Amino acid sequence: MDADIERTLLSADQIAKRLDSLAQQIVTDIEAATGLSDPEHPHNTLTIIPIMTGSIIFVADLVRRLPLRMRIYPMSASSYPGTATTTQGITLSFGDRVPSELGGQHVLLIDDILDSGSTLRAVTDELNKRGPDTLHTCVLLRKQRDQAMSFPIDYVAFDIPDEFVVGYGLDYDDQYRNLPEIVTLKPEIAQG
Ligand code: 5GP
Ligand code: MG
Repeated sequence: MDADIERTLLSADQIAKRLDSLAQQIVTDIEAATGLSDPEHPHNTLTIIPIMTGSIIFVADLVRRLPLRMRIYPMSASSYPGTATTTQGITLSFGDRVPSELGGQHVLLIDDILDSGSTLRAVTDELNKRGPDTLHTCVLLRKQRDQAMSFPIDYVAFDIPDEFVVGYGLDYDDQYRNLPEIVTLKPEIAQG
């Protein structure tokens, strides 16, 4: 697997450090916006909706830094089937966990990468229809391209160059998710 790596963009250490500060920011903001820690409402709960599978490692690491009462309802969206590295339409699947009515709920939607923005747009449109009290959005990576940089988003862990990356949950043909760092692949491995 290591022989397929071209270069490392973000080390495991860099990711861990950034997650510490990001988590603090999220806790402060969300408590202020939602009153989640209000002792008058001790049962207020944050609804975390991770978009699987790319955000799996990010979410696991982030939620353990968020000392808030929460429920986690994974959903899935696929825009890069198999070995394709260009968007080919999006399939959303909310499973049976994401409630069809989100009234009274504070939602934090978490995805791996903001690229063209079509995935987050499709998911936020659908979640907004379900009427959450608040909806915050968070991504691990945002690509430095116009469509991504102009997309409205609450939290971004890292801005990265507009290149195809894998590792830390991100795949190429369902592989490389277990790499602890975020890397690019040699061109002969991933043909864009
Ligand atoms: P968007 O809908 O914003 O164009 O794309 C977002 C989705 O495309 C991400 O959730 C991710 O699944 C996939 N994607 C975009 N860029 C990359 C990339 O560089 N590497 C990988 N592995 N997936 C990507
Ligand atoms: Mg995705």
